Amino acid sequence: MSGIGTSAFDEERLQSEIERYHNQLDTETERLYSLATEAREKGLDFATEVEIPRATDLADRTEKLLEEYLDGLEIAESIRTMLLDEDRETTAIKIACQVSRQMMERTGDQQRSIDAGLRVGLAILTEAILVAPLEGIGQVRLLNNMDGTTFLSIDFCGPIRAAGGTAQAMAVLIGDMIRSELGLAKYEPTFAEVERVKEEFGLYRAGMQYKPTPEEIDVIVKSCPVMINGESTEDIECAGYREVRNIDDGRVRGGVLLVIGEGLCLKAPKLQKHVERLDIPGWGFITEFANRGKKGEGGDSSIFTPRKIKTDSRFMKDIIAGRPVFGMPNEPGGFRLRYGRPRASGLAAAGMNPVSMKAMGSFISVGTQMKIERPGKACAVTPCTEIDGPMVLLDDGTFVRINEEGHWNEIEQQVRAIWDNGELMLGFGEFLENNKNLVPSAYTTEWWAAEILDSIKNQDDLEFLYSNSNLDKSSVPQTTPWDLRRRLRSKSERLEVEWMLRDWHKSLRNLDIDWAQTVAISKRWEIAVHPSHNPQWSDLSIAILPDLIDALANATVEDGCLRISDAVLGWVAPLVVESAPIIESVPNNQTNLRRKENTTNKISTIEQIGKHSIDEAIIDELSESFGIQQHGLVKSALMCLGIEHHHDGDDIIINEKWECLLEGLNLKIENDQIKIHDMKSIKERLEGIREATNIVEIEEERITVLEAEKRAARIKAETSARQKGEGIAATEQAGQEAADSIEDPGPKDGDALLNAQILLDENDVENSLWIIRKISQLQWKDSAPCRIGCRMGRPEKSAPREMKQKAHALYPIQNYGGPQRLLATAVSREGSIRVTVGPRRCLRCERETPHVRCHHRTIKDEPKECGGRTVPAERRGAHLRNRMGELTTIPLSDILEVKRISLGLDRLPERIKAMKGLTSKAQYPEPIEKGILRAIHDVSAFRDGTVRYDMIDVPVTHFRPKEIGTSIEKLIDLGYSHDIRGEPLTSDMQVLELFPQDFIP
Ligand SMILES: [Zn+2]
Repeated sequence: MSGIGTSAFDEERLQSEIERYHNQLDTETERLYSLATEAREKGLDFATEVEIPRATDLADRTEKLLEEYLDGLEIAESIRTMLLDEDRETTAIKIACQVSRQMMERTGDQQRSIDAGLRVGLAILTEAILVAPLEGIGQVRLLNNMDGTTFLSIDFCGPIRAAGGTAQAMAVLIGDMIRSELGLAKYEPTFAEVERVKEEFGLYRAGMQYKPTPEEIDVIVKSCPVMINGESTEDIECAGYREVRNIDDGRVRGGVLLVIGEGLCLKAPKLQKHVERLDIPGWGFITEFANRGKKGEGGDSSIFTPRKIKTDSRFMKDIIAGRPVFGMPNEPGGFRLRYGRPRASGLAAAGMNPVSMKAMGSFISVGTQMKIERPGKACAVTPCTEIDGPMVLLDDGTFVRINEEGHWNEIEQQVRAIWDNGELMLGFGEFLENNKNLVPSAYTTEWWAAEILDSIKNQDDLEFLYSNSNLDKSSVPQTTPWDLRRRLRSKSERLEVEWMLRDWHKSLRNLDIDWAQTVAISKRWEIAVHPSHNPQWSDLSIAILPDLIDALANATVEDGCLRISDAVLGWVAPLVVESAPIIESVPNNQTNLRRKENTTNKISTIEQIGKHSIDEAIIDELSESFGIQQHGLVKSALMCLGIEHHHDGDDIIINEKWECLLEGLNLKIENDQIKIHDMKSIKERLEGIREATNIVEIEEERITVLEAEKRAARIKAETSARQKGEGIAATEQAGQEAADSIEDPGPKDGDALLNAQILLDENDVENSLWIIRKISQLQWKDSAPCRIGCRMGRPEKSAPREMKQKAHALYPIQNYGGPQRLLATAVSREGSIRVTVGPRRCLRCERETPHVRCHHRTIKDEPKECGGRTVPAERRGAHLRNRMGELTTIPLSDILEVKRISLGLDRLPERIKAMKGLTSKAQYPEPIEKGILRAIHDVSAFRDGTVRYDMIDVPVTHFRPKEIGTSIEKLIDLGYSHDIRGEPLTSDMQVLELFPQDFIP
């Protein structure tokens, strides 16, 4: 890239740019508000002032929202100051405590102080834009434990749902911090109080994201230092624990269940972060919850921690029929994780190659919500062309990766199966935000480039790289990497140097490296084989390696291609099923999307595809999705590894990148013939796996027998205790003691067992990669260590928010307007209509009219209205009625004539759509001019009189002018004068940083 180094970090310019931007926002807001104020002051509308109040920031909003709880306490400034140094959640905690302390000093009222603090905390958490801080918390109460000490009880109500799980859980935490600050005791629930919550969970029927088990409820209710309480929201009554101390009545309390289920249980990892950082006592139980699922099932066999990534299938809950699953957790074929952040991305958004979107039968498009396995629950999808697209199998047997949309369009009709979804790009911050451990990354070009960059230490290294790659000297910065690294220490040059290092990295990342080059580079710097030559070894079972090697030994090299004769003898393309994409569900819970593949095909095909046979016993071990029955040994192995190939008659031809296959398996080429080097290590490894499996099976059997013994002893002891008439607790204890009395002598050979477990786990994670690393001279890194289970969430669209029946005017014309409800039709016959509208009275002429401005003419034949402002007309018993409307005759034709003149129109638009009737209580029609104007501009009104457009909410931080179709002149006008490198904006391909409040429609 050219133009490097002309400008660095221009702090002054950036500062003035953002100031100008904020001033511009302020000025424009001011202008619009005064325009709106002026318009409203004319009194043509019901309200005479602008209803939406303005608050400058979160601090200001919080103070305004909670005015009635704060007793004049000013908090905006301290929130503002704290937000400068702390994140929102920490600020919420600290300010909440501070507010309750101040309220305590002011009023001496504990209850009121807690109430105010808690609401402020919740307001900050929810950006002070929801009603949750007002209506989500009913009241806080100080109740008594059995021992007479006072504890805090917080009533949660339905509207707390809108605050989301994090805020719900945080509210409890904040409540507890205030509690301990005010010296109140911890809540000690009685047995009945705990059981009551369990019963309520059992009875609750509304949808919940998570329903804890009785054991989990037990832990939470017993350990939570404040009482999560609430008003009844459901009609269902508890039967077992209806009258319980501290709980108002017998019905189910929805708020309590929400806060425990969706809040404390689901958001435990987020709470844990704060609990540990702020060192809050009494919340150890939350760590237990957060770590749930992180430990293996055999967590008590202490020393052994598996390397295998724990999968989590919660994303599959509440799946809706018709919305596809794109991959199960860590199953080959699903989306492979790639770390990074595309420009059109941010939190809760993931990048995907546009071809992957198309390949998923267009179920995914920009902005579609996907439910994902990790790190969060869901994400919006955005396009990113720099990552892998899908690998597909065509009807002629060709197996190919498609990264370009053009390519996809060419071959789409021939696609018979999608073998691999491609990559899914997620940011590191996504893991941080969700407080989840990172999972291993695939070996990617960015990683490779970073290793190379670090390895270039002198001119000799650099020359080596130039002669062993097609790196173009003119495409990289003039300054050498080692020089740049040295200059990083200089503060003044820092930014410029960073940019240049980045340019180096970018050039290296995009290098096209051939096999000889990657071997030379790997050997010189001891770095792994380039990602483009790195098959997915860890997907391939070691068991088939001996047969695969035998098969490859017969291959020949022709014109730089590898020909494997008769490898697809008898192969037929999977049949096309002409229907929507099907999700094939096969054993081994493999359900990645296999499009157009016919399952019945498998049964009818000949037993053996290709001339290379494989042991029956091994076939049984392989997962059916491996496809060996359908594609034969060689082809299914190549597809598993992700190696592109095509057919030539009954032969498989691999055009390029086959050298890595031979190298990995330690096969040498001599005179274009392949020679097997040795298979000893593979056989040893297979033997080792067999032995380990044996050891583990014996241990499992031993444990099963032991547990059965314990169970029998427990039942016996419990039965006899029950017969003696012991209570529940005593019975349980007797059972436990009996079970414990049977000793576990431990495994026969503990060390052997541990080694076996480690070996099997390692084999599970690495599969063939382990053996490749052993027998190849080169270094290999895992190219597909983690796949993320995902399925389609809800589809998104952007569209005007309209009523089902589009309307320009919220004006009732009953059936006068015909089926189209047109004003023109309504006045075409008689000129007057009789409709139901609310009565108002003119302050000027005292006559009645439904309009906000009196429509009566002063002189009958002159198109001039009285125009007096009106007020609601009084009617006896009006407050008892549901609606205020009365059947009224309106001279609509005359009114429209007056409005046409006052709006300065020659003629009215032909199609002004109105309403049949009004559903509001007062039933006053809108000023009809609004409808005329909306019809002219072709915008339709929502039922509350607003004109809305719902957009897909997807984060984007940078853009190129070309991508958004805005001219450079206009962008400069909007303040986008320089690109991210500080260069003046001149080309529509420069990358610009989006201003914080701007959006791209
Ligand atoms: Zn009047």
